Amino acid sequence: MCKDDNTIKELIIGRRVGFYKVRGEIGCGTFSRVKLAFHALTKDKVALKILDKTRLDTQAQRLLSREISSMEFLRHPNVVLLYEVVETPSRLHLVLEYAGGGDLHNRICNEGKLSDTTSKITFAQILSAIKYMHNINIIHRDLKAENVLFTSSGCVKVADFGFSTRVSNRNKVLDTFCGSPPYAAPELFQDECYLGPPVDVWAMGVLLFFMVTGTMPFRADTMGKLRRSIIEANYIVPPWLPGPCQRLIKGILKTIPAERYAVDQILGCDWLLPVEFPWSLVAPEPTGLLEGHHRADDRLYCLPCKSAES
Ligand code: ATP
Repeated sequence: MCKDDNTIKELIIGRRVGFYKVRGEIGCGTFSRVKLAFHALTKDKVALKILDKTRLDTQAQRLLSREISSMEFLRHPNVVLLYEVVETPSRLHLVLEYAGGGDLHNRICNEGKLSDTTSKITFAQILSAIKYMHNINIIHRDLKAENVLFTSSGCVKVADFGFSTRVSNRNKVLDTFCGSPPYAAPELFQDECYLGPPVDVWAMGVLLFFMVTGTMPFRADTMGKLRRSIIEANYIVPPWLPGPCQRLIKGILKTIPAERYAVDQILGCDWLLPVEFPWSLVAPEPTGLLEGHHRADDRLYCLPCKSAES
């Protein structure tokens, strides 16, 4: 292909990156543009996150290197996969698994709260992804609805590992304020140090509240008021929510991290009981891009069965 005039021309004008044929833009971040691309041989769709190396300041370089080093470890059906990184003299290209079904934030803003069943299916997939990350000592630290993407078939893919960190063990104390304030745990506003897993769990509580009610638990017109309402856990669980869901929200949104539900308690909660919830444990979808790679433990992975989605 290197001798093919057309391929060379496409490489020069940025219509091709390595084996990937680049198509239209699907999003943009602070330092990146994200484009749809196709693998020239397998035809698999990917999301190509393009970063201009000359525009990355020290902070952006640090976030990017965190994103890449965490994602290199992550292989789970509910986590966006990093297939490879392609570097050219001026640009870095993160070749990511494509999630073409939009994000949870837009879905709720456009269509309103999710039904109880859809909330369970969505929340259980996020939970499965977070359990897996914590098991391998990766803390996400920026869980929010904008970072929960869907594939076109409705499968959840947790994305955006720029604030993530790999810890030597889950009891490692952290000290950097990360993430989006409405999803931030109280200890992030109050304490100099915090433990990673409870911070992700709190953000899952905020996500759960947002999914089942269509509103955020903590809202305020100034940062000071938002901070106060989070520290005081000043939120109201609507009485019309099913009891098991109310109990789960209250178990997660506890201000003292040691009293907050742990991931395994959430997994065993009444709201996610299999009797109420038609789930199947299925093997991850095969993709040509991943042939030869092995997932860590297929038994942990939950994907929604088709009947539950329809
Ligand atoms: P920032 O850089 O400001 O934190 P961000 O993290 O949202 O923003 P990106 O990760 O660069 O930025 O993503 C920008 C947008 O591109 C996302 O909001 C999403 O719409 C889209 N996008 C990112 N990754 C994917 C993906 N794997 N599949 C489909 N769309 C994606």
